[in-house]
Amino acid sequence: MALSIASRSKINLYLKTLRRRPDRYHEIETLFLPLDVPADRISLDFVNAPGIRLTSSLPGLPENLENLAGRAALAYSDMAGIPAAWSIRIEKAIPVAAGMGGGSSNAAAVLRLLNDHYGKLSEKDLAALAVTLGADVPFFLQNRPAIATGIGEIFRYPAGELIAPPILVVNPRFPVSSKWAYCNIAPERIGADRSGRLDRLVEALRGNDPKGVAENLHNDLAAALYKKFPLLSLLRDFMLEHGALNAEITGSGPSLFAVCPTAESRTSLAHAVADAFESVSVFEN
Ligand code: ATP
Repeated sequence: MALSIASRSKINLYLKTLRRRPDRYHEIETLFLPLDVPADRISLDFVNAPGIRLTSSLPGLPENLENLAGRAALAYSDMAGIPAAWSIRIEKAIPVAAGMGGGSSNAAAVLRLLNDHYGKLSEKDLAALAVTLGADVPFFLQNRPAIATGIGEIFRYPAGELIAPPILVVNPRFPVSSKWAYCNIAPERIGADRSGRLDRLVEALRGNDPKGVAENLHNDLAAALYKKFPLLSLLRDFMLEHGALNAEITGSGPSLFAVCPTAESRTSLAHAVADAFESVSVFEN
């Protein structure tokens, strides 16, 4: 019997670096939005041999316990006291090192899949286990819009329904390490944000107001990425000229997302981007 689960991606509509800690991590405040597209698919088979075997559809992606999803399975086996005899397969659609949280999402999907099956851990214990694997992993257990603080591991969920605007994600098909992006923030960007943007962003999501969302996007990591990779500025300008209300980089990049006024305008933009830029992937949400 094989079990299978979708492993969704995310974008950050807002990302503020508040403080650089002595251990070089940054305290941040960020608004995560889960996306249905792209999503990976994780399948798990119960096998006779003890241990965890993990493979993926993407050549070069770490396998077995070097993969965050494999480590999640091992951590679940340890904490739940269940001997592992699992074969796990990842069908990869989320670009890697793209600011879309692929590895964290895969880890959370494995935890969810195993706990749905064995039911050994409470939601609280599962979240505590998730955070040991990575700051973003607990977000993917919940898969709903969330504001994260701390190093991104403390979550709060704004009240009411938050309605995502039509979004186009564009991945330029080269990787950027999160470490590079965080090491290259201009120091003057780091600090509290008194602009009220984050509150306005949440209000706009509650009010199903794409224009309000577009006006309040922010990412402190973006400036260094635009400077280092001119293609990202070209993509952003192109999207603004072809119907996007606004566009920004997600997380540590290099993927960009555009906020569009309507689903139709998003689809036209997707075609325009795919026609004008050969080496990018586009994802409509
Ligand atoms: P974030 O937005 O959380 O910073 P990201 O999208 O930039 O994440 P990932 O795609 O999660 O980055 O991958 C970062 C690194 O983790 C890659 O170098 C990759 O080799 C490694 N990795 C380990 N396991 C996985 C996995 N299951 N999926 C993707 N990457 C993985």
